[in-house]
Amino acid sequence: MRVKVLGSAAGGGFPQWNCACSNCRRLREGRFPGAARTQTQLAWQAGPGPWTLLNASPDLRAQIEATPELWPQGGNRHSPISDVILTGAEVDQAIGLLLLREFHSFRVHATRSVRRILTEDNSVFGVLRRFAGQACWQDIPLDAAFSVGGARLEAIPLAGSFPGFIGGARSAESDPAEAVIGLWITPESGGQTLAFLPGVGSIPEHLYERLQECDVILFDGTFWSEEEPASIPGLSKTASQMGHMPISGPRGTLATLAGLDRPRKLFIHINNTNPILDEDSAEYHAVRDAGWEVARDGMEITL
Ligand SMILES: [Zn+2]
Repeated sequence: MRVKVLGSAAGGGFPQWNCACSNCRRLREGRFPGAARTQTQLAWQAGPGPWTLLNASPDLRAQIEATPELWPQGGNRHSPISDVILTGAEVDQAIGLLLLREFHSFRVHATRSVRRILTEDNSVFGVLRRFAGQACWQDIPLDAAFSVGGARLEAIPLAGSFPGFIGGARSAESDPAEAVIGLWITPESGGQTLAFLPGVGSIPEHLYERLQECDVILFDGTFWSEEEPASIPGLSKTASQMGHMPISGPRGTLATLAGLDRPRKLFIHINNTNPILDEDSAEYHAVRDAGWEVARDGMEITL
């Protein structure tokens, strides 16, 4: 099974259009020791045949064009993409669905609450109902494994909240366990298990045990420190309050997962302000010395 990292940045990408932080500025000026990144997006293929998208990022059109495996085949309209799985209803995770609107049928898998937020509260998603069977929505169960695209999947509810744009009535009737999920992905034909967790606010004991069963984890690398978001104009929350454990500090990811020795560990969903993007920085070397990798656009992982 091939898993391709099409994008590895947090919302806004790197560089972000309205950001002149040290990272974004130096990247634009061509003097940054690290790579530009598009917003977090995965795709996998479990064997010969169709591809499954994991989330639908705002950069999806460019990400498809950068990936020959996802190009249409034959002489007319076609796509190897058959399914899209959403781990939440945030703009960064779902807006790319609107880029797939050109009269093509595909399945969308999301929790019931995420499906209702997107299809019942946001009329713009009506562009995916222009003909019968255009987008077929299927609810992701939280209490049973399910299959998509030749893989066996399991959804684990994570501590997180619904997007700020949803109204009070929808928020009150939605199941909080359906807001943000992590996914455990294993080829149905057998092989390794990958966990995809781009938004993790904390690691309770049961989650730690599930991580230790994995072969590869793609884990929340949004912020280096608790205070990092406070340096961003308009934000006054800590990283944890935004649903992202920081990488550093006594309750950060490096310390909490230091004993996790089985899986290959990669950070993904990296915010443009994060110093680990700079491969000359002490923070980047601290992450590498602790046995972690930093995901990059175009990476491929074989399970
Ligand atoms: Zn920036």
